[in-house]
Amino acid sequence: MKHLFLLSFILLFLSCKTSTSNQASDSSQQSVQISPVDYENLITAAELKEHLFIIASDEMEGRMTGEPGQKNAAEYIRDFFIGNNIPSPPGVDNYFQQVPASFFREGSGIKVTENVIAFVEGSEYPEEVIVITAHYDHTGIDRNGNVNNGADDDGSGTVATMMVAKAFQKAKEEGNGPKRSVAFLLVTGEEVGLVGSKYYTDVDPIFKLENTIANLNMDMVGRIAPEKLDSPDYIYLIGTDRLSTELHNLSEQVNKQYVNLELDYTFNAHDDPNRFYFRSDHYNFAKHNIPVIFYFNGVHEDYHKHTDTPDKVEYNLLEKRTRLVYHTAWELANRKDRIALDVNE
Ligand SMILES: [Zn+2]
Repeated sequence: MKHLFLLSFILLFLSCKTSTSNQASDSSQQSVQISPVDYENLITAAELKEHLFIIASDEMEGRMTGEPGQKNAAEYIRDFFIGNNIPSPPGVDNYFQQVPASFFREGSGIKVTENVIAFVEGSEYPEEVIVITAHYDHTGIDRNGNVNNGADDDGSGTVATMMVAKAFQKAKEEGNGPKRSVAFLLVTGEEVGLVGSKYYTDVDPIFKLENTIANLNMDMVGRIAPEKLDSPDYIYLIGTDRLSTELHNLSEQVNKQYVNLELDYTFNAHDDPNRFYFRSDHYNFAKHNIPVIFYFNGVHEDYHKHTDTPDKVEYNLLEKRTRLVYHTAWELANRKDRIALDVNE
């Protein structure tokens, strides 16, 4: 009797709790807890492939910074954002942030070029922003006339960023948008010295750096490195724990919950001779004390060769890795407090 009595008391208590929480969520017009899984299905291998075969086509002429191929790619990305109703941030001229020729090394001959940026505004803390980056430029045409298609480097990160943007925008359109803002920054000038991201962080951050809570950077996420052929469901992560242990833990947790890739930290070692931490666009955020994650598949036989073509990309794997970035961004954008920087004594 006693147990039964206690049980009914608990049930009564639980039903009261449920009804209050229902009331609370009704007031924000959400009768059920929104799951990020509802939108991850918009990130598909098929659509990643469709866009990458265009971004990394010969028509884009290797997307050399400042040249017509890069500008064609910029237009393609902008058209994608427009077509999916993903807005240009306030203060940005129709998705393009110009990087003037004078910002490049004197005598380089590099012409004016542009970063492409779109964003989804947060509902509760719109001034706080997660910046997702990939570089869409590549190395152009080699001296033998071969187009360096740069499908993995970094067409893969470029199309992945576009797909994450699409998923966030759809969530927002259905009333389930992120609490914090998410910016989608496709940078130029990476191959000539991380210049587009440097211009963004050092000269004209569209969103204040002190309100930029994290940068997730994808550079080469569509292939399998030779050392991983036996266990290809992986991604190398670099930088996760260098500024914020909370970011590292969050990243691990969402991977376990949603994606289940092997997260390999080999190249995150401080004495890593490759120094990858310093070699892609996230570094321009990290140097400003912004926590970063660099997503990277490692080098392979086609790295910086004209044989880096879209037919060699592993689209199912690219889909998984893109979903990992999506879920990580979703958690960063929606958890109660912004992630904390570690306190160093
Ligand atoms: Zn690259």
